Amino acid sequence: MSLAAGPGRGGGTGRLPEDLELCIEKHVKYIQSLDTRKDELEYWLTEHLRLNGVYWGLTALHLLGRPDALPHRETIDFVLSCQHNNGGFGAAPGHDAHMLYTVSAVQILVTIDAVEELEKHGKGGKERVGEFIASLQNRDDGSFAGDEWGETDTRFLYGALNALSLLHLTSLIDTTKAVQYVQACSNFDGGYGVSPGAETHSGQIFTCLGALAIAGRLDLVDKDRLGGWLSERQLDNGGLNGRPEKLEDVCYSWWVGSSLAMIDRIHWIDGEKLGNFILQCQDIEMGGLSDRPGDAVDVFHTFFGVAGLSLLGYAGLEKVDPI
Ligand SMILES: [Zn+2]
Repeated sequence: MSLAAGPGRGGGTGRLPEDLELCIEKHVKYIQSLDTRKDELEYWLTEHLRLNGVYWGLTALHLLGRPDALPHRETIDFVLSCQHNNGGFGAAPGHDAHMLYTVSAVQILVTIDAVEELEKHGKGGKERVGEFIASLQNRDDGSFAGDEWGETDTRFLYGALNALSLLHLTSLIDTTKAVQYVQACSNFDGGYGVSPGAETHSGQIFTCLGALAIAGRLDLVDKDRLGGWLSERQLDNGGLNGRPEKLEDVCYSWWVGSSLAMIDRIHWIDGEKLGNFILQCQDIEMGGLSDRPGDAVDVFHTFFGVAGLSLLGYAGLEKVDPI
């Protein structure tokens, strides 16, 4: 099973009209079509993202109001085929276990109400999945690594808290230390970096806020200062960038938008302009969204674009949880 990139382009060849709507049916068909392109080179080039791709596609379909658009049993079988005996999951069968794929696996199984399939699978059930995640915490500073080789990143810390809270297993880790580590990654501008002392970045703000929200510690955030930095990410065309001086990108509709929602400051950006920017990134003929008008569509930006519109309260979409 694979849900990857292409083949269409966001915005087609010319500029789309201003009064554009979300082409829900086209996007559902686009996501469904991705798994049927196995004879194309790209299917194999994106193998390292396969489990994540299924998560992005599946979640987009749920937001589009079509939770049954992917085959249920096939999805479960694919997820379980990526699991290792240590409880962790790889990107595809035979790939090494890693935090990010393990989090995607848990999110998929929870989304399609199939966590109990882990018990039937004979690999230690959800407890062993939780133990794999917990084994990646550094008990001295509270941080998390992505795999046994030890690279640390606040993305892994957020992923761990997210998956363990979905499995009701946060007791397996030291949450207090994890919160202290997030605090150590905060910067004078109100934002957060990938590690202590690293420059503020919207993606890292999302992961740090998400972790604090799950831990019930959003009280630690300087909401006005951070809200100010985040709202400066909106450019004249309505799109959001990830850092000062960078280009706008549909995926930041989610990283920045959900961060603003978590600190109750989503009204600090112009939602109508952002919504129009996202809609300009659609391929209105074959479905899918791109990072900005004129680029190739892919399942990642399709998911983040739809999630961004859902966050803005776009009619006809299911409401997304910003955490
Ligand atoms: Zn992007």
